[in-house]
Amino acid sequence: MSAPFVGVPPPRRRPRASRDARIEAIWRTLHGRYGPRRWWPAESPFEVIVGAILTQNTAWRNVERAIGNLRRARALSPAAVLGMRADRLQRLLRPSGYFRLKARRLREAVGWFEDRFGSRIGSLAREPFARARRSLLGVRGVGPETADSILNYAAGRRTFVADLYSRRVAVRHGLLPRGADYETTRTFFLDRLRKDLYVTQELHALLVAVGNRHCRARPRCQDCPLEPLLPPGGPLPF
Ligand code: SF4
Repeated sequence: MSAPFVGVPPPRRRPRASRDARIEAIWRTLHGRYGPRRWWPAESPFEVIVGAILTQNTAWRNVERAIGNLRRARALSPAAVLGMRADRLQRLLRPSGYFRLKARRLREAVGWFEDRFGSRIGSLAREPFARARRSLLGVRGVGPETADSILNYAAGRRTFVADLYSRRVAVRHGLLPRGADYETTRTFFLDRLRKDLYVTQELHALLVAVGNRHCRARPRCQDCPLEPLLPPGGPLPF
């Protein structure tokens, strides 16, 4: 049985991603090699929110250990996170690093959800998108990447998580200029991707996969599936 995930289940046939031939080529190549990714790895939308906050400045395997602690302590619910003593929450989150700060941030984000939606993540799915995103960005510790992760995966809203990996690939392949920021990258992809939630969720997950394996601070292009799609002179500076 495949691991649980929160996201759009993969369709029987891989859909087209974009009319932009460069993006479509990246999509087809990565989907053929790594997909479907069945992303976001979580058992509930609440767990997506927890993971999106804990993943800041740490590797995903550390987040998994912290979430495992919360699960064993039966603390993967808004009531449990808000109700437990701060030092206990910090202990459970310790594997994710910066655990005191993250315990505070997690509580603030969960408190925001409770106040606003009473734990009903579905309400976030119905709120006008721009208002929901703006409001989420107003929560301390929630930056654009965290907000878009929550909106895209937990709430099923159409946005794109333009993390470091997607920026690296886009810049090195000449799709975006060097130094392109988060919002430029998000808008670039969103403007060109089909209005299909599976596509936005899956492309982000595929770019994470190629980023983890190849497109690191020093790119390992030799055996990367995207190597044939590089500009003639090789990867452009990021
Ligand atoms: S490692 Fe090289 S070929 Fe692979 S995505 Fe990065 S720049 Fe492209």
